[in-house]
This record gives sequence, C-alpha cells and structure tokens, in this order.
Amino acid sequence: MIPFAVFAVLMLILLARTGAHAKSAPQEEADLAELPPVEKAADHLRCAVGFQTVVHDEMTDWEPFRELAAWLEQTYPLLHKEAFCTLLEGYTRVYCWKGTDSSLEPVLCTAHQDVVPQGDEQPWTHPPFSGIIDQGYLWGRGSLDMKAQMTALLESVEHLMQRGYRPRRDTYIVLGHDEETGGSGAQSAAEYFRKKGIRFFLLIDEGGCVSEGMMPGIDTPLAAIGIAEKGYADIELECTASGGHSSMPPGRTSLGILSQTLYDIERHRFPCRFPLVTRQFLSALRPHTSFPLRLALSNLWLFKPLVMQVLSKYPAGNAMLRTTTAVTMASGSDAPNVLPVTSTGTVNFRLLPGYSIVDIESFVQRQIKDRQITYRPLRCDLPSQVTSIDSDAYKLIEKTVSQVFPDAVTAPYLMTGGTDAKKYDDLCSGICRFSPYRLSRQDIDSMHAANERISLDNIETAMRFYLQLFANLDQQATDSQS
Ligand SMILES: [Zn+2]
Repeated sequence: MIPFAVFAVLMLILLARTGAHAKSAPQEEADLAELPPVEKAADHLRCAVGFQTVVHDEMTDWEPFRELAAWLEQTYPLLHKEAFCTLLEGYTRVYCWKGTDSSLEPVLCTAHQDVVPQGDEQPWTHPPFSGIIDQGYLWGRGSLDMKAQMTALLESVEHLMQRGYRPRRDTYIVLGHDEETGGSGAQSAAEYFRKKGIRFFLLIDEGGCVSEGMMPGIDTPLAAIGIAEKGYADIELECTASGGHSSMPPGRTSLGILSQTLYDIERHRFPCRFPLVTRQFLSALRPHTSFPLRLALSNLWLFKPLVMQVLSKYPAGNAMLRTTTAVTMASGSDAPNVLPVTSTGTVNFRLLPGYSIVDIESFVQRQIKDRQITYRPLRCDLPSQVTSIDSDAYKLIEKTVSQVFPDAVTAPYLMTGGTDAKKYDDLCSGICRFSPYRLSRQDIDSMHAANERISLDNIETAMRFYLQLFANLDQQATDSQS
C-alpha cells in the first residue's frame, strides 16, 4: 500500500505537470497579398489531371509527360522565362528562381508529376482523368497526390512573378517524374545539387495535412508536419523441396514449410520503442487532449508502458512505435494438383529511425528454423534523418501552418509512407513534409484509390500557404541577418 502522504505528493506532481501543458493561443494570421483566382487555378489543375502521367515499374508511356511539359511551359510563361529550368532523365524538372541575396542558403520546394494507375474504373463517380468539378470538388487521379500541390506552388510563383516579386533566398523547384515507383528522378536531382555544392535551408515536400478525428481523444483539428520518414525493406524468402504429383504428397510441401516461417515472422513482432519523434508528436498534442489522456501524457515517467500499450492497439499508433512487419506476397506451384518445388514469400518492413537492414536480417534469421529456407533483401531504404523541431526551418513551417490553419494544433510526426524528400537527406537538415490541405477521412482514403478528389477550398488554401511561406521566408531571412 502507498502511504497517503506519498500518494498525495504523487497526485500533486501529476496534476502540476498536467496543468503546465495548457493550450497556447494560435498564431495570428499575417496580412496576405491577393490570392491568384481560384477558378483559374482549378481550371489549370483540371488540365494537369487530364495528362495521364501514370508511372509503372516497367513500360511507362512517357508521351503524357511530354504533353504535360509543353502545357507547363505554356501555362506558366513567367516561370519558364525567369527561372532557369534543367531537365534530368528527360522528365524531372529543376527550376532555379534567383533570389536577391545569394549569401543565403536556398530553399527547395518539391512535387511530383506522376500518378498511380486509376485501378478499376467501375467505382469512379467521374472518369478518372476528367478533372470534373462537382459538389465543390475537383475529381481525378493525381488531383490530391499531388498535382493540386504542384499547381498551387506554380500558380503562386507565377502570380508573384507577375507582381515583380523576387524572393530573398534562391528558390529551387523540383518536379519529379517517378515518385510513385520509387524511381530515380529525385535521386538525379539530389545528385545535380550535390555536384553543384548546393545545400538547402528548407525543403518542403508532400506529407501530413490538417485533419479531424484521426487521433482518439483529440477534437481539435490536427496539422501534422512530417519531420521524418520510416525506412522500407522487402525481404523475399524461398523454400525448396521435392515436387511431384499432389496425389502422393510428402508430409510437408515447400509452401507449407515456408508458411510456418512467414507466420512466425508475423507473430514475433519487433519490440515497441518510443522514438523521439513520437514523443514530440504526443507532447504537441498533449494540451489539446481530454484530462485523463493529458494526465497520462504529462507523466510519461509513470504512464509510458500504459500509453505504449494503448497506442500499439491501433495500426496507426502501432506504426509510430515499432518497426512493422507485413507478409504481403506468396507463391507455390502453378497448378492445384502439382507440388511446389520452389515457394517464395515476401515480407515488407517499415523501419523506425535508428534501425538498419542488419536489424531486419537478424530478425528474419531468428525466425528461420528450417535449413531449406533462404532469404534475400530485395530493396532497402534506410529511415530518413529526423528534422529538429528547434530548427529555424521547422519553426518557419510551423508558423506558416499556424497562420493558414489558425484553428489547428501543429505537431511534428513520423511519416509511415515514403516521399521523394528522403533522397535529399544529406543536402538539408530542415526537411518538412506537409500538404497544405484540410482533409476528411474520406478525402484521405481516396488517395491511390477510386474517386480521388480535392476540394476547391483546398486549392485556394494551398496557394495561400505558399504565398504565406514566401512572405515568412523573407521575414526569417531578414531577422536572421539583423
Ligand atoms: Zn505523392
């Protein structure tokens, strides 16, 4: 039994720590220049969606990319006159918009032109590449991921150029051409900058957004800014055994033996960790949570095991706490009555910061009990660097997000999916991943699925974000020099 005095002191500590994390007032919205007209921006996005820039691992049709390139040059004439454009691998576009002060570190804004295939056309309300505007939304593959962000950026730059504006910092724009297949466009752009010795103060790419109801216990809209990305690894396992007719089978087939190992890999999960980025995410949410949750989050020294246990019950929470394992593919023989000689299975891992392929391989080795099974890594991308929330770059993005979404609580977070941003890891310590939209669950679920769409409000908001970002970048450059 805890003596009453100790209990009372403990309660006082808990309450004091909980109270210390009360809500702070949101940032005031700065005065903004006039926005580009949303009707025109929506019409441009409609055209951009119309180019079927679908990438495949093999056999991509590059003709729509050539058409998109010609359209970009026609639609954004000042950009193509004032910002020098370099083509890499034929389709990745690197623009350099010279700033007024070359002594300052430049900024990089990235987007990708490519989209995933439409999938089955039947569930689409409107044809997948129509860009039709209906019910306040623009519908089509790539509208959300991420042609709206690409065109909002270009509209904003063209608009600022029309007004004779030049940023303080050199501003680079990279429009990649194969992000969805994890291709080499962004890699080539990074190599291009590396050769020129260019490093960036800030890199902004697609990422988190503003959403509601995504985290249990939080009613306030949440603006999640990606400061890191998990790593990615595919491991293929193979089992070989004797084949033959299935009418006289041995005790176990190669597929049966392999399945046991795949099951063990799934069952023996990686241990839960509490990485810094997840602690920072929860810390940012803390003042906006209900009292019991705030009590627990304010006193992780006591409640950490409980918080981890609760979070790990949800797939999204679990992904923030551990290197995840997903058995995704398997194959045996070609016919139901033929014993498989060779069976294969693939496991996909998403690595927390701090993990490497060595950790994945030793985990897989521990689960392999049968000598007939071999494995080989197919692909491995390490987790990204983690951007410091104390960096000027993060603070600038956080401020911009707070100004454009004054009702939202901003929080740094660990992205479980991949972006092109990771390719620039060694060129910038201020990488932030944010898509300046307010999205519902339904909107988010439309990404890479049928009925992908973006609201007209979001098209306008995205332009407001970029204009505010340019204004804040200039202000920050001035402040840093004074
Ligand atoms: Zn994307």
